[in-house]
Amino acid sequence: MPAAVDVAIVGGGIIGISTAYALARAGLRVAVFEKGALACEQSSRNWGWVRTLGRDLPEVPLAQRANQLWEEIQDRVDVGFRRSGMFYLQENDADAAGHQAWIDGARAHGVDARLLDNRLVRKMLPPTGRAWTGAMYSPTDGVAEPQLATRGIASLARAAGAQVLEGCAVRGVERSAGRVSALLTERGRVAAQAVLVAAGAWSRLFCGNLGANFPQLKVRGSVLRTTPLDTGPLAAINGKDFTCRKRADGGYSVSQFGASMADMVPDTFRLMPHFFNAWRANSSFVRLRFGKRFFEELKIPRHFPADRVSPFERHRVLDPSPSRRGVEQAWRRLVQAFPAFREARIAQSWAGYIDVTPDAMPVMDAVPGLPGLFLASGFSGHGFGIGPAAGEAMAQLIQGQTPTIDLHPFRYGRYGT
Ligand SMILES: Cc1cc2nc3c(=O)[nH]c(=O)nc-3n(C[C@H](O)[C@H](O)[C@H](O)COP(=O)(O)OP(=O)(O)OC[C@H]3O[C@@H](n4cnc5c(N)ncnc54)[C@H](O)[C@@H]3O)c2cc1C
Repeated sequence: MPAAVDVAIVGGGIIGISTAYALARAGLRVAVFEKGALACEQSSRNWGWVRTLGRDLPEVPLAQRANQLWEEIQDRVDVGFRRSGMFYLQENDADAAGHQAWIDGARAHGVDARLLDNRLVRKMLPPTGRAWTGAMYSPTDGVAEPQLATRGIASLARAAGAQVLEGCAVRGVERSAGRVSALLTERGRVAAQAVLVAAGAWSRLFCGNLGANFPQLKVRGSVLRTTPLDTGPLAAINGKDFTCRKRADGGYSVSQFGASMADMVPDTFRLMPHFFNAWRANSSFVRLRFGKRFFEELKIPRHFPADRVSPFERHRVLDPSPSRRGVEQAWRRLVQAFPAFREARIAQSWAGYIDVTPDAMPVMDAVPGLPGLFLASGFSGHGFGIGPAAGEAMAQLIQGQTPTIDLHPFRYGRYGT
């Protein structure tokens, strides 16, 4: 345990670790505290897409910068990054118009995306059983391996001088003269000039205990992986009702947006005014479900002292069960779309809790009213791909520099909480 650092980071997912890497490279003393194991929650459970395609436009500069950083990281350590190309398939004119509108908006950022007609799509993909009318395509978007990425970046951060502690939950922070002055962990106190909360699905609970009301909920995403297959597509594909991407082990990670489930919990009701419009807009692919998770979360205290075992130690790893229906449906649709997949089998399925905000964009900001406390969370199902650039921008912000990428769209105050 370090006695003192310049910056202490809560959470060893891709955001916390990428920020630590950037800070250590800038010469700061930095330590990351992870309650479970590195990337044990969202950062190892995701689809592995590193995309600019289809992003909310304010996130596009982060995605562009991240694609460069992934390349630099891959040159130094194997994180499985490759520019595999990415397709967003179309079934009708409305899909094509939506994609064209996105390309028109993103063009100002230099995004490498175009529309392909049906003939080209058929030429570039394996034989298909579905009548695609075309696709939005990026040759430079790609994938990385979630099982390798955060650990790989952590090894670079350690080599640059960062300390990374696993199995060490952070219970709270200490304040002196109105500023954050230390981190309080289950293994003791660490003095810190600044603290970054990058606690993924736990950020709302952590901030709430300090008096900050961060509007964040969780959505359960389910995924499966297949046995190796040589004849499938090399590019990542969003087929509207299925997704797939080739893995470094030769198999495929397969899912669908419709495999998302929002377990109703007490926060669902507390945050209803903030999330109502988001639920309405996404109701076709995120299903609300009432079950045992409501009672599990009801038992978690919202306020707790730092001198006792905290909820973060009681819940070392969030490991929800996958939606069988969601992944099996995605699998059937993938096999129908690309019959080559008949040769593969389902090898495993899993789920992860995605942390979401009302506008599906992260908060990357200083926390108002708590000097020295920063928040990078709420990446809403797309923080893996932009993780390295988000970490770089947060490191600049924490050092008091003007971030190279405009973080105004990600300010905390936009929710008025
Ligand atoms: C099924 C699924 C598919 C996805 N697909 C994609 C994709 O293809 N592309 C993409 O870009 N994104 C994707 N995402 C989203 C992406 O995985 C997340 O946005 C990203 O990993 C968030 O990283 P994070 O570091 O903020 O959070 P996390 O990875 O959740 O890390 C937070 C860490 O903080 C730790 N922690 C929490 N509280 C404490 C505490 N008090 N003390 C110590 N440690 C603490 C947790 O244990 C956890 O390890 C997907 C997510 C899921 C679940």
